Amino acid sequence: MKVLVVNAGSSSLKYKLINMNGESVLAKGIVERIGFDGTVLKHEGKDGQKIEIDKEMKDHTDAFKLVVEALTDSNYGVIKSMDEIKAVGHRVLHGGEKYAGSFIINDDVIAAIEECAVFGPLHNPANLMGIRACQKIMPNVPMVAVFDTAFHQTMPKKAYIYGLPYEAYSEMKIRRYGFHGTSHAYVSKRAAEMVGKKPEEVKIVSCHLGNGASIAAVDHGKCVDTSMGLTPLEGLIMGTRCGSIDPAIVEFLMKEKGMTINEVTNYMNKQSGVYGISGISSDFRDIWKAWDTEKNERAKLALDAFCYNVKKYIGAYAAAMGGIDVIAITAGIGENDPRIRKMIIEGLEFLGAVMDDEKNSVRGQESILSADDSKVKIVCVSTDEELKIAQETKALCL
Ligand code: AMP
Repeated sequence: MKVLVVNAGSSSLKYKLINMNGESVLAKGIVERIGFDGTVLKHEGKDGQKIEIDKEMKDHTDAFKLVVEALTDSNYGVIKSMDEIKAVGHRVLHGGEKYAGSFIINDDVIAAIEECAVFGPLHNPANLMGIRACQKIMPNVPMVAVFDTAFHQTMPKKAYIYGLPYEAYSEMKIRRYGFHGTSHAYVSKRAAEMVGKKPEEVKIVSCHLGNGASIAAVDHGKCVDTSMGLTPLEGLIMGTRCGSIDPAIVEFLMKEKGMTINEVTNYMNKQSGVYGISGISSDFRDIWKAWDTEKNERAKLALDAFCYNVKKYIGAYAAAMGGIDVIAITAGIGENDPRIRKMIIEGLEFLGAVMDDEKNSVRGQESILSADDSKVKIVCVSTDEELKIAQETKALCL
C-alpha cells in the first residue's frame, strides 16, 4: 500500500510517497513559491534521481497536478498511475480541543480546521488549500488529517490552563495546546523501543530541538505537559522565536519603541531566539563557527541560553512526572550537535542522567548516548514525522 504524505504551506507543498510494505520512501519533494514568480518543483524520485521543474503555478491545485505528473513520469517517476496511491495523509497544524487523534477528512473535519484557523492563522488555511487541491485531483482517495496538536490532548487541565481569568479558556479556548505532537509521539515511542521498554512502562522527556523547538513530558505513553502553548511561540528559545518571556514586554516594546502589535509579533517570531541573541544566525552551525573561530561572546551566550532553557524544562518535567527514565533528543540540532547535547545534560547527574562522551559523538544516527550505569537513559532519535503521518493514515484507511 502506498501512502502520500502532504504538508502544505501558504506558498509551498511538501510531499513524500511512502510504500507501507517495508515503510520505504519512494519519492519526495517540494513545490516552492506557489502563486509567485519562479515557482519550482524539486523532486527526488526513482533511484534518487533529482529533478527541478520551473513552471508557473497559480495555486496548490496546479502544484499538486505537477506533483502527480512527477510521481507518474516514465523516467523519474516511481508509480505507473495515480491509482497506486491508496490514501493521502495531510499534516495539519491545529486541531483545537476537538481532535485528539487523526481523522478521515470529511466536511466536519474541514469545518474544524477552518474554526481552528484563529489559533493557526498562517498554517491552518494553508493546510486546507493542500487538502482541497488533493481532493480536486484525487476525489476518490481517502484522506486523513494528522494534527500537530493531537498528541498533547491528554494533558491534564492543570497543565494546559493559563493563569488568566477562566473565561479566557471557557469563552475563547485560550489554553496550552502544544505542537510538534507528531514528532513527540513518534520519538517517545521509538525511544522506549530503543531502551527495550514499552511506552506504557516509562517516563520520557522528549526534546525536539530544531529551528522550532519544544519539549514534552510523556508519562507512560501519554503527554502530560509540553512547552509550546496556544501558539508555537511559547517555551524554549528557538531559532528566531523568543520562547517564554514576561508578557509585559509586549506593552513595554510598544511604548518604548513605538512598535505596532504586528511589529512586536514579528520581533518575537522572526528576530528573536538564538538569532536575536547572537546577532549572527538562527543556524547553530553558524553560531558555533563564530564562537570557535573568533570567540564571539554573543554567539556563546546564545548557545548557553538555549541549553540552560532546555535543561530547566527537563528538570521541571522530571518534577512533574515524579522522575524520568529516558531523555530523548531529536530534530536538526538534537540529532546533529553533540556539543549542545553535552551542555544540556551536564549538571543533570543529580537526576541520574550521565552522558558517555564517546557515545555522544554520533551525528545523524539513532543511538543510546548515556553511560552504561546511567539510571536515566539518554537517546538520540531520528524523528520521522512523515512516516508517523503515513502510519496514522494507513491505520485509518485500511
Ligand atoms: P530542523 O528544524 O529540525 O530541520 O532543524 C534545523 C536546524 O538544525 C538548523 O537551523 C540548525 O540550527 C540545526 N542543524 C542542522 N544540522 C546541524 C549540524 N550538523 N550541527 C548543528 N546544528 C545543526
